[in-house]
Amino acid sequence: MTAVSHEVDLLIVGAGPTGLFAAYYAGFRGMSVAVVDALPEPGGQVTAMYPEKMIFDVAGFPEVRGRDLVAALVKQAGQYDPAYLLGRPATELSDVDGGLLVEVGDGAVRAGAVLVTAGIGEFTPRPLPAGGDWVGRGVVHFIPELAVHSGHDVVVVGGGDSAFDWALALHPVARSVTLVHRRTRFRAHPGLVSKVEDLGVPLITPAEVVEMRGDETGLHEVEIELGGEQRRVLPAQTVVAALGFTADLGPIEKWGLDLEKRAILVDSTMRTSRPRVYAAGDVAAYPGKVKLIATGFGEAATAVNNIAVALNPDAHLFPGHSSNMS
Ligand SMILES: Cc1cc2nc3c(=O)[nH]c(=O)nc-3n(C[C@H](O)[C@H](O)[C@H](O)COP(=O)(O)OP(=O)(O)OC[C@H]3O[C@@H](n4cnc5c(N)ncnc54)[C@H](O)[C@@H]3O)c2cc1C
Repeated sequence: MTAVSHEVDLLIVGAGPTGLFAAYYAGFRGMSVAVVDALPEPGGQVTAMYPEKMIFDVAGFPEVRGRDLVAALVKQAGQYDPAYLLGRPATELSDVDGGLLVEVGDGAVRAGAVLVTAGIGEFTPRPLPAGGDWVGRGVVHFIPELAVHSGHDVVVVGGGDSAFDWALALHPVARSVTLVHRRTRFRAHPGLVSKVEDLGVPLITPAEVVEMRGDETGLHEVEIELGGEQRRVLPAQTVVAALGFTADLGPIEKWGLDLEKRAILVDSTMRTSRPRVYAAGDVAAYPGKVKLIATGFGEAATAVNNIAVALNPDAHLFPGHSSNMS
């Protein structure tokens, strides 16, 4: 059996908005917490797919940029110092005397309860066929920090919203941005396409990246094939492969939880069919479910307060008002 690296009251599986808010709430309820995520950064779908987009339907914020919301959630949870186990997928779940054991990458976490906030599952970026060896050495799927690409010639590959979002976000920091798409039509919202066009970003279609060249210092240029086998070379230190993601609940589907359409069935306390395992956020299913950040926050609070009672039957379900705590 894998060595236990952490022992906590609550293990949260998924560091998206729901898991991060649950980490705050569990700390507020006096629990020790670990948060595991397969991705190297917290923030779930927000960080992976739309960190630069404005969000308009989070309570209390008329508008908030995705990355700022995630930073605020991390700060809020940080008051109680949860242990983050990032870049590690949660794989196996087993019962151990009076608790649960979850394998996370090369270690294992023993917890009194598990809250699954795994969203739509683990994301796997759709690969850029010519990008193989260059992933992490010039080819990226996520951009956690725009400044890293400052002064670069950037080629964005893709025709959906995220390709155009990245073109917009990178334009102020990059030396040049060019968008390459294999079709002449874009899936992205026409308003977004116009914004990028207005900035003068060249949109090259139909075209595919067929070769990448560089040396040990990194990527220098890409060769694209235009219709009719015509080729062109573009300078590029960064290629953003914005070809979308596949998402998969993967190992969690084998945890013996009742599922419905790749989501976990819960009752009104957010409890699953397995004792001490709860679910909240996009991954949780019940009649009338609406998958939004706002609903995930409410479900996180419901789950954690019910977990507090499950772990300690003398605890109150109602946590008291945070405004009364100094
Ligand atoms: C382009 C786009 C725009 C959106 N705009 C809005 C909006 O304006 N307003 C709004 O309310 N919602 C919006 N949403 C939806 C919103 O992002 C989701 O509802 C929200 O992210 C759900 O949060 P979550 O924490 O439940 O799950 P997620 O954000 O999906 O996070 C789940 C996390 O769990 C991790 N994970 C999964 N499986 C494992 C495992 N086995 N081990 C370890 N980690 C695992 C994943 O890596 C991920 O980080 C948008 C979504 C998209 C794609």
